[in-house]
Amino acid sequence: MSAQFDQLATTILAGGAASEADALAVLRAPDADLVGLVAAAGRLRREHFGNTVKVNYLVNLKSGLCPENCNYCSQALGSDAPILKYSWLSKDETLQQAGAGLRGGATRVCMVSSGRGPSNRDIEKVAEMTEALKDEYPDVEVCACLGLLKDGQAERLKEAGVDAYNHNINTAESHHDTIVQTHTYDDRVETIGRAKSAGLSPCSGLIAGLGETDEQLVEALFALKALDSDSIPVNFLMPFDGTPFENTWELSPTRCLKILAMARFVCPDKEIRIAGGREMHLRSLQALALHVANSIFLGDYLTSEGQEAKADIEMIRDNGFVILGAEDALDPAAEATEHDPAIRRRGAGTEVAANA
Ligand code: SF4
Repeated sequence: MSAQFDQLATTILAGGAASEADALAVLRAPDADLVGLVAAAGRLRREHFGNTVKVNYLVNLKSGLCPENCNYCSQALGSDAPILKYSWLSKDETLQQAGAGLRGGATRVCMVSSGRGPSNRDIEKVAEMTEALKDEYPDVEVCACLGLLKDGQAERLKEAGVDAYNHNINTAESHHDTIVQTHTYDDRVETIGRAKSAGLSPCSGLIAGLGETDEQLVEALFALKALDSDSIPVNFLMPFDGTPFENTWELSPTRCLKILAMARFVCPDKEIRIAGGREMHLRSLQALALHVANSIFLGDYLTSEGQEAKADIEMIRDNGFVILGAEDALDPAAEATEHDPAIRRRGAGTEVAANA
């Protein structure tokens, strides 16, 4: 079986494309073939992205209080998840938060606000924030994620220096209406089109683990391919208490890795980003997933905490990767002393309980 995936990678590298049947075979690969699958997908990853990892940092400009009913979302109408709720951060707070991410190793800042879509006043706020951020950090890439866009809003963001716009399709069109009823799949696709027409780099991805079938995951990936999304965040459902998906656990680490590998085979030259749920669902396979995906979020997510940003950077470095745009930022010797052997002071020969 592994040879089948290696052959598929060879075909794609020669200019071919994965079919829907190929994508399904990747999703359904036996766990015994996992390493071969990662090696094959890794050939495509290295062809297009070498040993670089793009590091993105989320700033939640406005949290919770959303009138939409996306069932998976802790910020949605009707969600009782005990998340932070606040209205717009000030420009100074935004700069401070973004600066922390940039100093921590990120090269792209994703400015996100909850809600159905921005008012023109909101767009002006984000435009001002972007201009201020770019004054201070001229090399920063800015992605905005503000919901459904109206006429002229994408153009205004572009004019202010925003580089990309994120709006996820989240799931297959055939599954969309079961996860949200206050807007449609077509609404989402329209916004991605508006961003693209204005010259913003389209970023759109999905959430796995929402009760979709394998075929629907394949459908969603091929839809993203057709939309020509430059970056594809792959989220794994975090089932927040107080949301309709609480206690929904459909994913395993190996399943998540196969989903990322499928994304790589279907969209070999696109930025595949391991997004929300990385730590919770990939767990000890996070590092292996970097050999398939080429992008992560640093540190925390919108309403939940990620692992320490330092652990993210270490994982990148330990696996032989470098941060895109900050290739020299990592000094392997700098933190070596933090890994000195800890002398055992518990278990055998002591009065202290063993570490087991
Ligand atoms: S995903 Fe966005 S639009 Fe949907 S409920 Fe959450 S914040 Fe609102």
